[in-house]
Amino acid sequence: MPTFSLNEVKSSILRLDLLHPVVSGNKWFKLKYYIKEALKYQKSCIASFGGAYSNHIVALAFACKENGLQSIGIIRGESSTPLSPTLIKAKEYGMQLHFVSRSKFNEKDQIKIELNQPDIYWVNEGGYGPLGANGAADIMHSISAEFSDIICAVGTGTMIAGLIKGSNANQKISGVSVLKNNYSIKNEIDCLLSDNDRSKQFSIFHDYHFGGYAKLNSTLLHFMNQLWEEEKIPTDIVYTGKLLFAVKDLIEKSYFKPGSNLLIIHSGGLQGNSSLKKDILVF
Ligand SMILES: *Cc1c(COP(=O)(O)O)cnc(C)c1O
Repeated sequence: MPTFSLNEVKSSILRLDLLHPVVSGNKWFKLKYYIKEALKYQKSCIASFGGAYSNHIVALAFACKENGLQSIGIIRGESSTPLSPTLIKAKEYGMQLHFVSRSKFNEKDQIKIELNQPDIYWVNEGGYGPLGANGAADIMHSISAEFSDIICAVGTGTMIAGLIKGSNANQKISGVSVLKNNYSIKNEIDCLLSDNDRSKQFSIFHDYHFGGYAKLNSTLLHFMNQLWEEEKIPTDIVYTGKLLFAVKDLIEKSYFKPGSNLLIIHSGGLQGNSSLKKDILVF
């Protein structure tokens, strides 16, 4: 766990990206209990939703293969030739891909009805749901209780809900939203928490989305390249690049109290950088 200190804040980074080169760290945790439940109900297949560069889709394909299950990915937008590297990997892991238009993709209940077979177990887009949060709560089991602050990237809010569940009363959890103006996320996180967990402290930052989901600019890319050159920490453009940028900015602005012991969750997702042209990132 590499550590750095600045403005009397000590920070460490939990490298869940090192768990697997393709199956990003947090997706691995989030899927665990869905797989368990699908097996318990003797389903033969898991289906879910995602985009052409989705970490969730490729992680699901891999996890299903490992557990002897079939998998179906409902993919937003038309099929492209060649397929994205993410979808090529998902197919290699045996996933069946169904492409649907962007408007159709938003009618998930309708898709489920049309495709439904009794042996399919459905998982929400991004693994959102209580079982996903329970899996993410297991991330906290490997973490020392000495950390005063824990910070992670937030998409659907499932991972942070798990971190909140798994935290103790003295720890403060913060999240960096990677979607633009996604203020309903607070409520979506609350929905995954028990009354007791809802009383724990957590905050979401909405100022580090760089224009919106998967949007980027030269400031972000420059930061990511610099972080690699100085610290040898690889990050992705959708989640962890924005997270690390936010952490640096918050520390510089003295958001964390002096003496804070901060843990940054590197949730993986590096495969998502395959949407970039070569040579944009130095790693
Ligand atoms: C999916 C993902 C997240 C966001 O997790 P949520 O549970 O959807 O909030 C963060 N980081 C990476 C690398 C991811 O793939």
